Amino acid sequence: MTLQSILDEIQKRPGTGDVIPIIDPVTEEQITEFTDCGEDAVNEAVARAKASFESGVWNGLPGREKAKIMWRIADLMDHYLDELAELDSLNTGMPLAQAKMIVPTCAEFFRYYAGWCTKVNGTAHEVQMQGGVSGAFAEMHAYTLKEPYGVVGLIFPWNGPVFNACAKIAPALAAGCSTIVKPAEETPLSAVLLDRIIREAGVPDGVVNLVTGYGHTAGAALTAHPDVEKIAFTGSTEVGKKIVQASAGNLKKVMLELGGKSPVLIYDDADLNMAIMMAAMGIFVHSGQGCVCGSRIFVQRGVYDQVVEGIATVANNLKLGGPKEEGSMIGPLISQKQLERVMGYLDEGKKDGVEVVTGGHRLDRTGYFVHPTVLANVDPATSRLYKEEIFGPVVTVLPFDSDDEAVAMANDTTYGLAATAWTTNLSRAHNLARRLDAGTVSLNCQLVFDHGVPFGGYKQSGWGHEFGKEGIEGYMKTKSVWVQL
Ligand code: NAD
Repeated sequence: MTLQSILDEIQKRPGTGDVIPIIDPVTEEQITEFTDCGEDAVNEAVARAKASFESGVWNGLPGREKAKIMWRIADLMDHYLDELAELDSLNTGMPLAQAKMIVPTCAEFFRYYAGWCTKVNGTAHEVQMQGGVSGAFAEMHAYTLKEPYGVVGLIFPWNGPVFNACAKIAPALAAGCSTIVKPAEETPLSAVLLDRIIREAGVPDGVVNLVTGYGHTAGAALTAHPDVEKIAFTGSTEVGKKIVQASAGNLKKVMLELGGKSPVLIYDDADLNMAIMMAAMGIFVHSGQGCVCGSRIFVQRGVYDQVVEGIATVANNLKLGGPKEEGSMIGPLISQKQLERVMGYLDEGKKDGVEVVTGGHRLDRTGYFVHPTVLANVDPATSRLYKEEIFGPVVTVLPFDSDDEAVAMANDTTYGLAATAWTTNLSRAHNLARRLDAGTVSLNCQLVFDHGVPFGGYKQSGWGHEFGKEGIEGYMKTKSVWVQL
């Protein structure tokens, strides 16, 4: 399989809408193009998925047979590791080494959820129900069945194309759903290869259906479709709200993994070298284009200057560059649109008098590169760049004096995706875990992940969970059955 064959295949995909160019964010040149699939292709994909679900060709298979096919998907992903990594690296500009680290993790989603195929069961309940005028108790047996949602739509963004796809396809397949897969319009390339792999592994036709197009066309048609029972969405909070509205037509169920403005608390008793390095990488990795990136850092006053200087030093030593450039550690932003968005926040911040400790500018070269940026002296009450998700390599650092002040500042956001605390005081750490209003709290660590640990957002960062048992249960309904004995 050659990369060129994927670039050719995407051009031939069905479409009736606009031609969508795929741009290399490092060279700013077009890699290839494809046609927006439009509503008709979405309708056809939903019809295929519905027919496959009703035929039982996948959901009717015993769990162990589904599991075998899912293991084959994972093995094939390992086989095509280089190609998958190269496609994501080419499409997003992330360093090839980073993409090669991520792809095996993505394959593991299929092995992890293959295990659940044989392990999700309902519960049994022995019930004594008081009935009739006599008041006698009737012996009842009740139990629950776990049943897959029929057709589910999987919509995800560009920041980790293979990862985002596998995080949704694997649990949906394990649950027995038939799926429509909609990658971001900026990064559909690896999804085309993944689609081939899924078919080569033996997933029957109609169970996984790729649609390639814009969000406002393909994504919107999928979300509004009356035969889609559930949408699992990863993306911005703004689009998440649109999805909720569009789902109202048939009251489809919605799972949302949305944005964040995650706080990182650094105390004076922390291992400061580690905290500084991890807090810096926790925002600058992938140029800040990660949902859990810690974009607001709060530092205990006594070590504030030291931490600000340390994070700025890390920022200045990170080598930005394209996947093919020697030693590059951080890639560009995904697009001209994202570049303009990030620079817009920075320009506004500078006008507001924010102190730019380092960065604050685009690199003087081709590609959508922004220098890792550390900002101080931000007004939490008025600053937009402090309140809103930037999704770029930009961090604000503010001092605090007490636990209460740190927690109040950390929780003062509409988001609740993740939070971190660096402190060697054990009881403080565990107290913070309870007080921080976020779906994931990491103590003395950052950028942590496991397929088995549930992940989901509080507040406007989402609904429901991915990963772990919660991840597969999100694709299943619970039916209660009653039997009079
Ligand atoms: P986005 O919301 O603009 O797009 C995400 C996906 O939704 C794309 O596939 C897009 O085509 C589609 N879409 C857009 N409009 C749509 C509509 N009206 N109906 C249906 N689908 C539509 O997000 P983005 O800018 O591409 O990605 C960045 C965002 O994703 C950030 O906010 C980030 O925090 C979030 N994100 C969250 C997580 C998480 O797990 N919580 C993970 C990664 C990214």
